[in-house]
Amino acid sequence: MRAPKHVLVIGSGLAGINAALLASDFADVTLISKSSLEQTNTQRAQGGIAAAITLLDDPEIHAADTIRAGAGLCDPLAVATLTSEARAAIDRLVGLGVQFDQRTDGHPALATEGAHSIPRVLHAGGDQTGLHIQSALIQRLEEARVNVRTGLTVADLAIDAGRCVGAVTDKHETLLADAVLLATGGAGALYRTTTNPANATADGLGLAARAGAVLRDPEFVQFHPTALVGDDSAFLISEALRGEGAVLLDANRNRFMPAVHPDAELAPRSVVARAITESMRAHDSDHVWLDISHLDADYLQQRFPGVYRGALERGHDITGGPIPVAPAAHYHMGGVYTDVDGRTTVRGLYAAGECASTGAHGANRVASNSLLEAAVFSARAVNAIRNHSAPADQPTGVVRSLRLHPHCSAPTFKSLRAAMNQHVGITRDAHGLKSVLSQFDEWSGTSSSDPSLALATLSARLITEAALQRTESRGSHIRLDYPDVDPAWQRSSLWQLARE
Ligand SMILES: Cc1cc2nc3c(=O)[nH]c(=O)nc-3n(C[C@H](O)[C@H](O)[C@H](O)COP(=O)(O)OP(=O)(O)OC[C@H]3O[C@@H](n4cnc5c(N)ncnc54)[C@H](O)[C@@H]3O)c2cc1C
Repeated sequence: MRAPKHVLVIGSGLAGINAALLASDFADVTLISKSSLEQTNTQRAQGGIAAAITLLDDPEIHAADTIRAGAGLCDPLAVATLTSEARAAIDRLVGLGVQFDQRTDGHPALATEGAHSIPRVLHAGGDQTGLHIQSALIQRLEEARVNVRTGLTVADLAIDAGRCVGAVTDKHETLLADAVLLATGGAGALYRTTTNPANATADGLGLAARAGAVLRDPEFVQFHPTALVGDDSAFLISEALRGEGAVLLDANRNRFMPAVHPDAELAPRSVVARAITESMRAHDSDHVWLDISHLDADYLQQRFPGVYRGALERGHDITGGPIPVAPAAHYHMGGVYTDVDGRTTVRGLYAAGECASTGAHGANRVASNSLLEAAVFSARAVNAIRNHSAPADQPTGVVRSLRLHPHCSAPTFKSLRAAMNQHVGITRDAHGLKSVLSQFDEWSGTSSSDPSLALATLSARLITEAALQRTESRGSHIRLDYPDVDPAWQRSSLWQLARE
């Protein structure tokens, strides 16, 4: 069969550029990004990328760690694919020009992060892994035969007889393609306090929903335990600091994590974020403290140059004493349902990276597995595109159909973010979730000239509906009115917009 001629990639992070480069071997590729090429979650990644590459490690151990943290919702096939293809993904990144940090003996320097039982996190530039990956990708993109369009927002997908045939931009331009890959990144900027850039507004979820694709587990939003307290654009203090021995202290400067979990500060993120929230509530404080100042100052500056400088610019010195931190919206485990080949349930439509839900992270993502997911599954999606694959099989389980107006909009991002922060954040309950849903109902007569705001409103609504529906606490989804894990809920939630 002839390979497709035109491929449209939406997004310029690791998933998007990696896919565009691979697809340019056999097709005319257009890559669209709504901002500059660099304004991505990828660029901000600090800690690194996980891969079992030493003799002491094994993809099966990496898979077991991932599944343990995923709170019963990981898809074993997706996890096995992720971990077994990790070495090849690292080799590809090195081939594209990413220089991972090395020890003095020339072997890769590997860090430990929460829920990894073995040091397996490769990093670059100390704590500037994302910056190094993004720069290498952009350099290769400049050399490749890819039509790059920045400052252009995809407002809708073009669907013809159930098949995705392209996309419509905010400039009312229709771009036709044989295959479209969503690589639109995360959902953090649906919240007021987030580590993500302002353009991370879950557009991919909304676009896929409108196209009739099945979505999975939108309620699972990860809040990173340790973002610097200061402004709403929360500067991330990488988990790798806790990997190097940083401890969390409550308002009275007492360490509290050892009493919460055997792995203390390196417990899964949802456990640490919840413990921090409870400590803040108990002490009526907007932060706890993170202290790594017992380590040598020169070592800290060299191992964490980005965090050191970023914190200093905001008035805090990690080498001088504890710094104030609190959880912030960080990563979306839920997303557009795909199989392990990046296929959605809509013909011609693929998704990879943070906007996709492969099932690899379950209810709680392990640190440094998401860059890996973006690298592994974007490559697999391109293979599927090349082979003109059929859409993904319908997932097993009940798909809940939602009748929503797909184009209504919050009046402003500010009002949307305030509602999400207040009631759909790290802890939720029915009362708060229902109040946000009433707010959405009030907004249903409003439409916006900003296509991203309309997509963000739809995505936020899907997250809220799913959070109300899941009447238990699991992984990153913590219901104050249903505090326990309910074995009956050990399944993904699947969603689809009802046809008009
Ligand atoms: C502060 C921070 C630190 C992190 N640290 C790590 C780490 O150490 N290790 C790790 O594994 N993960 C880390 N993550 C997570 C990881 O960086 C992301 O999950 C991953 O980079 C996502 O890549 P992506 O290609 O899917 O999306 P992104 O890199 O976010 O790219 C999304 C792209 O989509 C474009 N886009 C969105 N909507 C539209 C639209 N409607 N039209 C056109 N373009 C659109 C955007 O402009 C952007 O180019 C971190 C995240 C953050 C925020």
